[in-house]
Amino acid sequence: MEVLFKSTRNHAEKVTASQAILKGLADDGGLYVPEVIPKLDLTLGKIADLSYQELAYEVMKLFLTDYTEQELKSCIEKAYDDKFDCREIAPIHYANGSYYLELFHGETIAFKDMALSLLPHLLTTAAKKNQVTDEIVILTATSGDTGKAALAGFADVPGTRIIVFYPKDGVSAVQEKQMVTQKGANTHVIGIKGNFDDAQNGVKAIFNDKELAKDLKEKGFVFSSANSINIGRLVPQVVYYVYAYGTLLAQGKIKEGEEVNFTVPTGNFGNILAAYYAKSMGLPIHKLICASNENKVLFDFFGTGTYDKNREFILTSSPSMDILISSNLERLIYKIADENPDKNREMMQALTSKGSYTITDEMKKGLKDFYGGFANEKDTLATIREVYKAADYVIDTHTAVAAAVYETFKKNEKDEHANVIVSTASPYKFARSVMEAVWDEKDGQFPSQEDDFALVRLLNEKTGLAVPKAVKELDFAEVLHNTVCEKEKMCEEVVKYLK
Ligand SMILES: *Cc1c(COP(=O)(O)O)cnc(C)c1O
Repeated sequence: MEVLFKSTRNHAEKVTASQAILKGLADDGGLYVPEVIPKLDLTLGKIADLSYQELAYEVMKLFLTDYTEQELKSCIEKAYDDKFDCREIAPIHYANGSYYLELFHGETIAFKDMALSLLPHLLTTAAKKNQVTDEIVILTATSGDTGKAALAGFADVPGTRIIVFYPKDGVSAVQEKQMVTQKGANTHVIGIKGNFDDAQNGVKAIFNDKELAKDLKEKGFVFSSANSINIGRLVPQVVYYVYAYGTLLAQGKIKEGEEVNFTVPTGNFGNILAAYYAKSMGLPIHKLICASNENKVLFDFFGTGTYDKNREFILTSSPSMDILISSNLERLIYKIADENPDKNREMMQALTSKGSYTITDEMKKGLKDFYGGFANEKDTLATIREVYKAADYVIDTHTAVAAAVYETFKKNEKDEHANVIVSTASPYKFARSVMEAVWDEKDGQFPSQEDDFALVRLLNEKTGLAVPKAVKELDFAEVLHNTVCEKEKMCEEVVKYLK
């Protein structure tokens, strides 16, 4: 069955999957969603037998129906290869009462690799299929991890250029060094004096600038996006939820058809939305537990039905979740508004004009699959320490937010379902915070004057956890990007670079 994609803000235009991937954002500013969410056409038992690559094909072919079997399989083969440091691609580790789904075994050691190893291949294939001859310029706003994963994926890919904007003072030292040392003649990295929301708003404004698009088109450029607003990011993320279920089944941890919970550390709402799509496809999921850090807009939204970004932006130890405008929530709002684009558009316009909107009681009923929780800084670090002490397992700050929220959920709801914590980054990406958490008084005074790379070595000495290649390489890497700009100057920077 062919699946077409429509915008969340009007139904006039329908596009194929490859066209949606090429465009990133719809012309009306809405996000592309599939007309229908397809159902899994494999039995759960069969899922348990497949490799990650085989399953990726079986899941994605249902959404990306205008890609041929050969095209899709070739994209998958190039994406999930030995860039990943383990054969399973997304292994599961049991610790302290939960299953940790480790999504950080790719090239840049965060879960963004799961989709961004694939997106460049999907996009270049889409360009060929649609006879696009312009150079594709990937514009990306990052809260720290998307940037590096997108840079690694698109570096030196013919026919593309990539520009990444990151909050200059809002990412970890390892995250920043990963980005500013990126090689590749087609890569460009810019720090902005602002936060992630500023970066994301700036990118969306550039996308919506029709004059600029026309100008650049004449010069042979067309924009696309590597952010999770691109449906080409979302679809590959559905795969690992199905895969995780298959792994638990194959290992005899659950029975066929048994419902499990997924607890997801959430920022832009892309990862957890993919879980919601997996549930809609028929995967037996009980609750989708949405874990926020102190920027708890989503927690408040699930509790009250009001989304309100008018609040202080807090810099936390889980910077990739420091977000007040969760773009992908729009896809859920649209869904629970009975797929009424006018209703969704009104709410998104209210979000732009006054920074908030409230859903109706009817719409609230559509949220019953979700549970919202949040963890403060103290509980996050305490959770890292607790899991390390109890299970000798080191988790990163984002994963710890999820683990902390799950504990509250379990207690409050007296829930007994098997729980999968989606583990989104290697602890080495956030070595300082993780080290602070696992540090013992008997280790002496915390070496706070040491830089983050020294702390990487100390974390390795203390815990014995192997340092990933992605971090080791940084020691010798040369800084190749040092542009910093005001948040109002993002568009000018793009024009300057493309001259
Ligand atoms: C991006 C990111 C998140 C948040 O994921 P969303 O899809 O934006 O909700 C959580 N943890 C880490 C480590 C990330 O890089």
